[in-house]
Amino acid sequence: MPQLFDYLPPEGQALPPAGSRVSVSFGNRRVIGLVMDSGEVDDATNLKRIEAVLDRALVPAHLLELIHWAGRYYGFPPGEAINLVLPGVLRRLKPFRCPPPQRLAISASGRSAEPRNAPRQQDILDWLVDGVLTRDELLSRGASAATVRTLLAKGWIAPAGQEEPLAAEAGPELNPEQRQALAAVLRSRHRFASFLLAGVTGSGKTEVYLQAARAMLRRGRQVLILIPEIGLTPQLIRRIEARLGLCAVVYHSGLSEGERLACWQAAASGRARVIVGTRSAVFLPLARPGLVVVDEEHDASFKQQDGARYHGRDVAVMRAHLLGIPVVLGSATPSLESLNNARSGRYRLLRISRRAGPAVQPSWSVADLRGQKGALDGELLNAIDRHLEAGGQVLLYRNRRGYAPVMMCPSCGWQADCHRCDAHLTLHQRASILQCHHCGASQRVPARCPECGEPDLQPLGAGTERLEQQLQQRFPEVPVHRVDRDSMSRRDEFGRLLEEIRRGRPCILVGTQMLAKGHHLPGVTLAAVLDVDQALFSADFRAPERLGQAVCQVAGRAGRGDRPGQFVLQTRHPEHPLLAELCRSDYLSFAGHLLDERAAAELPPCAPLAMLRAEAHQPQPAQAFLRAAALRLDDPAVEVHGPIPAILSRRGGYWRFQLWLQARERAGLVHALPDWLASLYGLPEARRVRWHLDMDPLEL
Ligand code: ADP
Ligand code: ZN
Ligand code: ZN
Repeated sequence: MPQLFDYLPPEGQALPPAGSRVSVSFGNRRVIGLVMDSGEVDDATNLKRIEAVLDRALVPAHLLELIHWAGRYYGFPPGEAINLVLPGVLRRLKPFRCPPPQRLAISASGRSAEPRNAPRQQDILDWLVDGVLTRDELLSRGASAATVRTLLAKGWIAPAGQEEPLAAEAGPELNPEQRQALAAVLRSRHRFASFLLAGVTGSGKTEVYLQAARAMLRRGRQVLILIPEIGLTPQLIRRIEARLGLCAVVYHSGLSEGERLACWQAAASGRARVIVGTRSAVFLPLARPGLVVVDEEHDASFKQQDGARYHGRDVAVMRAHLLGIPVVLGSATPSLESLNNARSGRYRLLRISRRAGPAVQPSWSVADLRGQKGALDGELLNAIDRHLEAGGQVLLYRNRRGYAPVMMCPSCGWQADCHRCDAHLTLHQRASILQCHHCGASQRVPARCPECGEPDLQPLGAGTERLEQQLQQRFPEVPVHRVDRDSMSRRDEFGRLLEEIRRGRPCILVGTQMLAKGHHLPGVTLAAVLDVDQALFSADFRAPERLGQAVCQVAGRAGRGDRPGQFVLQTRHPEHPLLAELCRSDYLSFAGHLLDERAAAELPPCAPLAMLRAEAHQPQPAQAFLRAAALRLDDPAVEVHGPIPAILSRRGGYWRFQLWLQARERAGLVHALPDWLASLYGLPEARRVRWHLDMDPLEL
């Protein structure tokens, strides 16, 4: 609901402070409420009283301020904003029993303990000596729940993050650019400042965050590190823990409700010293905040794409501002949003131009796909041969999972399309299905063409599954590992594979974005992007930016060890100016040009954009709602365009339309939206559609 509700204080009591959790009667139910504010009312006769105060000032004032801001800026109804800061179990009346801790570590007393005649206790201690394990891992190795409980009771093991500090490993000595970056951050440790740490891949950005974090920890402050996806960077958490000498509290959407509550409480009490989490961790309470880090700040997974649509990076900056602490956004390929903020002076740009240690940037070349039999041919194939022979590892990037992106009938031209989306179905050969990558629908592969009966349907193009097969045939002696959401669906699978790869034996990795995410794989000497051409002609104005980021990130996987690296970019358009620019200069100058183009075209981030989206089973209701909404917006500061169809005009059976709302100044847009949005709930057209506002949208 788009509004707050008024209640009187409990009988005979003063009003509890803002942020208090209370129980109230609402309609004919009792529910949990959060006190947001207090004030006088003209007429209190119809107001109910708060029934009970459950926790006084549970949500700290600065978090309330943050959600007030987020609500206004993103246009969330207040309840949705509150959901972001209050864990699920605290939003329900039902009492909650805390489940056992999920991540366990050995304690100092456990290290010196000698359980007599208790081999099963000894086993658990032995396993944990090597590092933190999850409860599930312990159980799957044969530990019993009872033994784990006994060890917890004896204090020989403890929930990870609560045991005594490990010895922090000393890191490398920082080079001059790293030292300057660190000094700049530490000079601002008592106040708000936002830094954009733009260092080429492997330049030692993580070392800079870690040393800044260490300095804050020494002063008793907490450090919040936001990362794009937990499962994709298994090495990072271990590295953070080893270098900081303590267990990180890890927060992400895969946690159970109990685990979330435990993190929330640990963060609120200050017990959690280092919190590593995905975007939603930006809303955790912090007792003694010192530093916020956003790693790989360009990554689109910081943006929540459904429900309360916010951008974790942008909220992090606002959070640091409200807390009066520094925030560091790091990336080798910063978003144009952040570069624009650096240009305007809102962020301070810290550059690291060279790789740390002995490693140098890989050499680049462009390979022409024209006249080749497929993605694996010609120059690239020769390079793969050479690098494997020299004992190197090879990483190939293709942003398409599945066997083939299109299944086609050679006789009549029929193509397998999703019935619910405006998209082709992808062939997954091993699973023998056609799957829609937009709505998830899947069906068996038809034996013959449903239109003309032709039995010999043909897969067109190659996704990672097909490439894996082709590589295995061509290089039977070399292990080929496919890395995508299909092959790495189980937890920890990716972590195990990365460890295997880090042992350094020659192998070929073929995969999607998962491969391009900041991994440090010193054995990789050749990296290649197999085909970028789709992105060159996309209708999405962000496609060139994403292309540049993917290309530079993939290139950045090569040559991080002591052997030099090579990078190959394959395309049918070697003369395309974007690619030429990318190869000629570095990412920052490439992105600088894109930013000039955005400014000239008055596109984000140079001009603010919000989108009102509507979806319905038929096109007309969605268009009608948006037209009615557009008529209601009577503010000269805001330009309205549309309704126009989304690039994916139908998804999951819904037709999707949008209004583009633009203004010269961000403040003008933010100012105009709240009242207008509130008025839309009452439109008769609203009842026939699903609609939402998306401020700073990433999807068009
Ligand atoms: P980034 O975060 O920029 O990708 P990392 O911090 O992961 O870079 O550093 C890449 C590699 O270089 C790591 O193995 C790291 O230990 C090493 N490294 C970082 N800084 C230095 C330094 N000053 N001297 C030597 N090696 C370094
Ligand atoms: Zn046919
Ligand atoms: Zn679909």
